[in-house]
This record gives sequence, C-alpha cells and structure tokens, in this order.
Amino acid sequence: MNTRRIVITAAFLILAGAAVIGWFKVVAHPAPVACGYCLRPLHANVKVTAEIDGKRAEVCCPRCAITEANQEHKPVRLITVHDYSTGKAMSPDKAWYVEGSRVLACDHGAMHMDEMKDTQEMAYDRCSPGTLTFATKQEAADFTAANGGAVISFEQLMSEAKFQ
Ligand SMILES: [Zn+2]
Repeated sequence: MNTRRIVITAAFLILAGAAVIGWFKVVAHPAPVACGYCLRPLHANVKVTAEIDGKRAEVCCPRCAITEANQEHKPVRLITVHDYSTGKAMSPDKAWYVEGSRVLACDHGAMHMDEMKDTQEMAYDRCSPGTLTFATKQEAADFTAANGGAVISFEQLMSEAKFQ
C-alpha cells in the first residue's frame, strides 16, 4: 500500500513538473529583447511586429522593418505597432506616425551620436528617420509641436516601402 502511494505521488510530481516546464515553454515563453533585423534593444512603446516574405519578427521600430524590406526587395506588412505614450498595442492602419522628430526611437549608443553630431545627415542609419507611433492624429500633432517632425498616416508610411 505504501509503495503504491509513493509511486502515485512520484508519478504526480513528474506530471506536475512536466506541466510547469510546458507552461514555461508555451505560455511564458520569454519575449525577444533584441530587434529581429538589427539587434538593437526592443522598447515596449516603439517596437513593431512585422512580416517580411511571410516571416514574422519583433522589430525595434517601423522604420527598421521598412528599411529591411527595401534592402531585401520584399514587401513588408506591419502586424502590430505600439503607442509611443502608453505602450499599448494597436493595429497599424489605425495609428498615426511621427517621422523625423528630435526623439531617437532606437538606441544608437551615445558615443556614436556624439561623434556624428556634425555630420548627422550624412551618416546612414537604418532606423532613420526615426518613426514613432501614436493612437490619434491629435497626439501625434502634439508630439511634433514639442519635438519636431511630421505627422504621417499609415498609407504615407507604407508608401516608403518600395516593393509592396
Ligand atoms: Zn531594428
């Protein structure tokens, strides 16, 4: 009787252990921390889920996805974008975008920016012009009033992808 109880308990523990491991693998799968294209860190309020040639990736910013698609000569789809103020996930076609503001969307490294201060326009950057996402046109306009840049629609943003 005792042996049977031990066997049942052991079997239960193994099953419970397997369930916990399974949960970690499937449910609590750690989110990627770096851009799937340029390996810069992902920020919750700038990152984008994009699809190029049927392959999905978590990307540092909308600009990086468009640059990647143009370099690969492939069409790009934006799947999910995030509101810059709140980090809330949104459908890309409902969002408004600010292009070329003074706020850097992606981490370029302070040293690099310092060295490039005088020749910023000449230095190539795949995430430039920086593109931030807003839930409403008004929020985007308020942001440009404080930080520069231009408000563009989803259609305008996607027109910069050359191989749609
Ligand atoms: Zn990137």
